[in-house]
Amino acid sequence: MNWDDETDTGTAAERLVAPAADGEDTAVEAALRPKDLSEFVGQEKVRQQLDLVLKAARQRGATADHVLLSGAPGLGKTTLSMIIAAEMGAPIRITSGPAIQHAGDLAAILSSLQEGEVLFLDEIHRMSRPAEEMLYMAMEDFRVDVIVGKGPGATAIPLELPPFTLVGATTRAGLLPPPLRDRFGFTAHMEFYEPAELQRVIHRSAGLLDVEIDTAGAAEIAGRSRGTPRIANRLLRRVRDYAQVRADGVITREIAAAALGVYEVDSRGLDRLDRAVLEALLKLFGGGPVGLSTLAVAVGEERETVEEVAEPFLVREGLLARTPRGRVATPAAWAHLGLVPPGPAAPGSGQQGLFGP
Ligand code: ADP
Repeated sequence: MNWDDETDTGTAAERLVAPAADGEDTAVEAALRPKDLSEFVGQEKVRQQLDLVLKAARQRGATADHVLLSGAPGLGKTTLSMIIAAEMGAPIRITSGPAIQHAGDLAAILSSLQEGEVLFLDEIHRMSRPAEEMLYMAMEDFRVDVIVGKGPGATAIPLELPPFTLVGATTRAGLLPPPLRDRFGFTAHMEFYEPAELQRVIHRSAGLLDVEIDTAGAAEIAGRSRGTPRIANRLLRRVRDYAQVRADGVITREIAAAALGVYEVDSRGLDRLDRAVLEALLKLFGGGPVGLSTLAVAVGEERETVEEVAEPFLVREGLLARTPRGRVATPAAWAHLGLVPPGPAAPGSGQQGLFGP
């Protein structure tokens, strides 16, 4: 299953640090998913709020309000939707916006829901317009109008639906049309995780995978996981392989660092592509500003790959800035690659004339 457009592009799909799930993730993630709110690490505020929403609904014997979860891929949106279903003792149906191209597709799903069922709609912002409009009514009145026939003779047949809980997920809530956003009773934004939280995720997963890991080993993997539990779990599996083949199976800081060195994931979680972009920016263009197309040619990648795959993380980490004049490296970028930024150009050196405004 593809969770994000960001990773559709070439090299991006095979990255160890891609936030979207690959085939192996999908196969093993089920075993690592927290089953209830108490097992769900971090996101303290979201957890507390959700706990109240669910407890209150349970006390009233009602179906929980519709929930909108926004946040980057791999932060736990699918996991939370499953937890919502489990806490409500309800079944769950999982689908995604791109899978619903016609209103009829949605009508078929909605009309087969059981009372209280949780419908998880991933990438809800990518649903077709007619399906979206059908969803408005379904969310508000638990009713849909099924259109029978075509043209002037078409008639709308109202269809009652059992009460259900829609859990919508999106990478950015801002992408949703306000009428859709307003129909959610509870909206939560998922943040990237702190290293200490990822460390807990890693310890928990190591326990489930029956892998021995010490605190420093977990910290080393956490620091390279880009704030994302899915990446933390994936790196843990690769480090486990290394520890098993090259050492005695126990994950220590040295083993984690050596293993992730082999996979070219550096101490801050940058991979080969991220580093290539930064290195080109620093070494070839003196830290910028340089245009995106030029930078892409310099690293031999498509413009979109650099812009959508490498840059968001570099910007988030404060290593690169997008300015109207082009991409610029920050002092932290020079420090991370162990390079010294060039001093101001000497007067009359010609630099100003060539690269100045
Ligand atoms: P999303 O739907 O946001 O892309 P998922 O819910 O599929 O992300 O989570 C990806 C993986 O990360 C899952 O296997 C899950 O085990 C793990 N995970 C996500 N959030 C947490 C968390 N808060 N605590 C523990 N594991 C988590």
